Amino acid sequence: MTQVGEPADVLTGVVPFPAEAAAAYRAAGYWTGEPLGTILDRWVATDPDRVAVVAGPQRITYGQLDRRATEFAAGLQTLGLRAGDRAVVQLPNLPDLLVTLIAMFRVGVLPVLALPAHRRNEIGYLCAHSQARAYVVVDAAPRFDYRELAAQVRAEHPTIEHVIVAGDPGGFRSIDEVVALGAGRQVVPPEQPVPVAFFLLSGGTTGLPKLIPRTHDDYRYQLRETAAAMGFDQSGVYLAALPAAHNAALGCPGVLGALLAGGRVVLAASPSPDEVGPLIAAERVTLTTLMPSFLTLWADLADLFDTDLSGLTIEVGGARLSPEDALSAERALGATVSRWFGMAEGVLSFTRADDPDDVRLGTEGRPMSPADEMMIVSVDTDQPLPSGETGALLVRGPCTLRGYYDAADYNARSFTTDGFLRTGDLARFTPAGHLVIAGRIKDIVNRAGEKVPVEEVEGFLVRHPAVADVAVVALPDHALGERTCAVVVPRGPAPTLPDLRTFLAAHDLADYKFPDQIVIVDALPRTSLGKPDKVTLTTQLATSPR
Ligand code: AMP
Repeated sequence: MTQVGEPADVLTGVVPFPAEAAAAYRAAGYWTGEPLGTILDRWVATDPDRVAVVAGPQRITYGQLDRRATEFAAGLQTLGLRAGDRAVVQLPNLPDLLVTLIAMFRVGVLPVLALPAHRRNEIGYLCAHSQARAYVVVDAAPRFDYRELAAQVRAEHPTIEHVIVAGDPGGFRSIDEVVALGAGRQVVPPEQPVPVAFFLLSGGTTGLPKLIPRTHDDYRYQLRETAAAMGFDQSGVYLAALPAAHNAALGCPGVLGALLAGGRVVLAASPSPDEVGPLIAAERVTLTTLMPSFLTLWADLADLFDTDLSGLTIEVGGARLSPEDALSAERALGATVSRWFGMAEGVLSFTRADDPDDVRLGTEGRPMSPADEMMIVSVDTDQPLPSGETGALLVRGPCTLRGYYDAADYNARSFTTDGFLRTGDLARFTPAGHLVIAGRIKDIVNRAGEKVPVEEVEGFLVRHPAVADVAVVALPDHALGERTCAVVVPRGPAPTLPDLRTFLAAHDLADYKFPDQIVIVDALPRTSLGKPDKVTLTTQLATSPR
């Protein structure tokens, strides 16, 4: 395939890896040039009847998954979609999510992975920003019809030529129909393979999410390496309890890594213990991924797991987890916890099964790749700090992007001149070289692992007629890890929390961005630069009763 690192071959708006770094990653064997569209090939050739995916009553073999992906890929080409085209994909944990991704990887159409919670505000932006030609969406969820969303999005975004629906298509075209279009046709490999395979969304700070280009090379390396580190092979069973559109459940090793390794993927609709307990027991799940708030919930409800969990490893990360909570969860569940720090941007660090307990439960372990470079610098001066000190975490490596898609100004702030990503997190290394996340600089709320872009939410709330001024801050929360608090200076009679939530719903925002709490104040404290002083606000509010 085409090599990343040669600017002429990449999409406009994608920042390539520098040629020298790309050559080094190839020479070291990290990047192998194998595209993601072939992740099933080995198992289709050797054992096509092996079960690849379990979803409710469905048990789909490698052979069946491969055939449907091939037919869908050929169908997409019949519709006129070409390598390099973008498609916003918004599917919950359905087998057709995997079919869609593998099909698109094969023809070079680039999925932009939206979350099921996204609404017109986010989907509209993603369609416009990526200039997507297609939108692949599920028919409906309880209390929400995605086809209505699709109709609005298509009316507002003329680049969207094709809406393709998993399930009942309403007035659109179904995935089944596109599969039927492709049946019996050859998939034509892209003339000019595109190094980028798909886009993930950042939990970035300024406004709407940025698009993270992930390449075939870097993601395939991540799949291989994380599966190996977790001891996941053909005998492994991976449970997708989080949305698989999240990097954590998609590729660390997640659903794609499980397929590459020849294991079995079990798809769950949610991580709630009453849903996943029976699945873990029936399928003998060996690996799953959770955010800390769900680990705590599982531990609190350990009695609901009517099965021996000693063969289960739970990868936990995405938000802060105390060593005490990690230990008590292990004890309550009888499973093994592996902690990770990671970003959809690519960087990953995690504990290994043979780490001593204090490392395994009290740190985020070591970087995934020997080629990952992690630096701790002063927040004020950007200068490297002596080892052991806490500072801003900068990262560069074979899986970490060199620039967000089509975001030159943001990139100039988000990367150092020598290509290190400013993670926005505060961290330190233990004397033995294990990563400890100590806080963050970036202005987000990490709500049960979902990143709430504070600036965007403030931008909407300040338009509410009863709001004169507003600051959104994160407050500690037992269930969510952090909850979202809107501190409001009212204009006349004070608005209520339901007022604010209704207002955001009317503006079609994803509901994980809605505030959980409102606090009314006469004025916001200000820093010397005149910005809302969120440190003071957070300290005051975190200690006052709710
Ligand atoms: P995302 O963009 O959703 O992948 O989120 C990445 C961000 O999640 C990181 O930059 C951190 O702020 C946060 N995060 C991820 N893992 C951890 C962790 N183990 N502890 C604390 N925060 C984390």
